[in-house]
Amino acid sequence: MSGGISRRELIAIGGAVAGVAAMTPLAHARMLPLDMDRDVFAAAVAELRAIVGEDWVFADEASTISYRKSEIPDLRGEHIPSGAVAPANVAQVQAILAVANRHGLPLWPVSTGHNMGYGMATPASSGQMILDLKRMNRILDFDADLGTILVEPGVTYQQIHDYIADNNLPYWLDVPTVGPIVSMIGNTLERGVGYTPYGDHFFMQCGMEVCLADGTLLKTGMGSIENGNTWQAFKWGYGPYLDGIFTQSNFGVVTKMGMWLMPRPPVYKPFVVRYANVEDIAAATDTVRPFRMNGLIPNGVLMMGALYQLAMFKRRTDIFDGAGAIPEDLIKVEAAQNGLGMWNVYFALYGTDEIIAAVEPILRAAFTASGGEVLTDAEMTGNPWFEHHKTLMRGGMSLEEIGLIRWWGPQGGAVAFAPVAPAKGDQTLAQSALATEIMNSHGFDYSPAYAVGGRELHHIIFLMFDKGDDDSSSRAEQCMAEMITRFGERGWAAYRSSVSTMDLVAQQYGAANREVNARIKQALDPNHIIAPGKQGIA
Ligand SMILES: Cc1cc2nc3c(=O)[nH]c(=O)nc-3n(C[C@H](O)[C@H](O)[C@H](O)COP(=O)(O)OP(=O)(O)OC[C@H]3O[C@@H](n4cnc5c(N)ncnc54)[C@H](O)[C@@H]3O)c2cc1C
Repeated sequence: MSGGISRRELIAIGGAVAGVAAMTPLAHARMLPLDMDRDVFAAAVAELRAIVGEDWVFADEASTISYRKSEIPDLRGEHIPSGAVAPANVAQVQAILAVANRHGLPLWPVSTGHNMGYGMATPASSGQMILDLKRMNRILDFDADLGTILVEPGVTYQQIHDYIADNNLPYWLDVPTVGPIVSMIGNTLERGVGYTPYGDHFFMQCGMEVCLADGTLLKTGMGSIENGNTWQAFKWGYGPYLDGIFTQSNFGVVTKMGMWLMPRPPVYKPFVVRYANVEDIAAATDTVRPFRMNGLIPNGVLMMGALYQLAMFKRRTDIFDGAGAIPEDLIKVEAAQNGLGMWNVYFALYGTDEIIAAVEPILRAAFTASGGEVLTDAEMTGNPWFEHHKTLMRGGMSLEEIGLIRWWGPQGGAVAFAPVAPAKGDQTLAQSALATEIMNSHGFDYSPAYAVGGRELHHIIFLMFDKGDDDSSSRAEQCMAEMITRFGERGWAAYRSSVSTMDLVAQQYGAANREVNARIKQALDPNHIIAPGKQGIA
């Protein structure tokens, strides 16, 4: 866990807190930054108000509730912000950073703050003030010939989707499964994914503006060329490629980002391949991989486990009310009743009728030979899961997967674990077996998905628990720590992590990696005011 409370003297506003046990009842109270005197905090807040106006600084109990909300377990109150400040423009971001440097106020930047499964807007350690960039929400440029866009942090996928529709632009947007309420910048900085051929968001990103801790504004790639016009057209620029060091990092505040959009294809055809048994995941993976490598399947493939799919639209009690994890036989029956397999592989073809007619028989033959049942609109129209993925694979908007968070009821919680493995069948079998063993031993259901990028796959495991029940939260914390540790021992480290496990995951990437990150941090942010603890970087 990052920022262990026993090591620090956290000051809960409205009452002194003696130790860990006393924290639990105050888990939802606001926290001051570590070692910061109350008067210094008040002075910093006053200066922030002078910059952004009274209405855009949130530093009391009531107005900070939405920033403290998160769906991950946090029994010891380790991820409680001190407040939030919401600037309207880059000049205000620079002024806020100056205040933070002067007073030693740590700031946790978010774009839309909906980092669900990873901690929402909450910081890696308590007391940080949320730098909420949602008011900076302009689409600054859209080049209709090149299909490139330049946006500010608060711009949501829904906003871009509407812009494309309103202006009848011949492009598709690639979205994560929670697109309507989240931001292109927040998602891309976390190296998030979507499900069209443009699904690797950081790969499709082109050019950033970053505000460094000292207020310096850096434009990456071609952005600083005088009279330049290729900022959103050419990624690499000249010299060291810097964009990467501002993703999953705390080296700067990203204030603009460019992105490429997919030309709308004349024809689109979605497929699902249904597999009947848990162990079929190996054959499915080995069938998908060559087609992702040679491009015959152009989009980010999702291989969805039955329980992940069921949890989108059902509550646990709809299926099972007994003790322990849901038995496999029961999942199988429930899946079959809903037109689902134990694994459901979603991909699509894009282009012209001729292109699809040439490729489809090749894919059908291979998936059928692997034991899968290949289905498309003809058989699956109206099936809610097929319709959901059909929407995603063409960059449509959906919030249906948020249902997972309510698996255990209205106070449900979910924390994500996403270890990376080579896209090979034996790896998926071994990963699924290990996850099932660990999760079931803690009384949780294994509800998996695999996203196949190309040569690798992200195993997406949502650990669904009951946040209204402390015992369930406590088991969820232990279960997650065990999964990260035991997967790590097998060489399977996570590509991303919740704020509660950033340090644990960072340790698995080795001492040299951490040391270099620490040196860059020291050089760019010597007062450590931007998101200390992010990705394990102090
Ligand atoms: C059911 C479910 C399904 C999901 N599906 C997907 C999916 O398909 N693909 C996917 O990628 N994710 C998915 N997620 C995870 C998550 O909700 C999304 O990635 C979402 O886009 C992140 O929220 P956001 O855009 O509001 O980012 P934010 O919360 O704004 O940002 C995320 C983090 O990035 C950093 N950051 C943000 N903005 C800045 C900035 N301007 N400067 C510096 N640092 C910054 C901060 O550390 C911040 O905490 C899913 C979650 C759930 C619960």
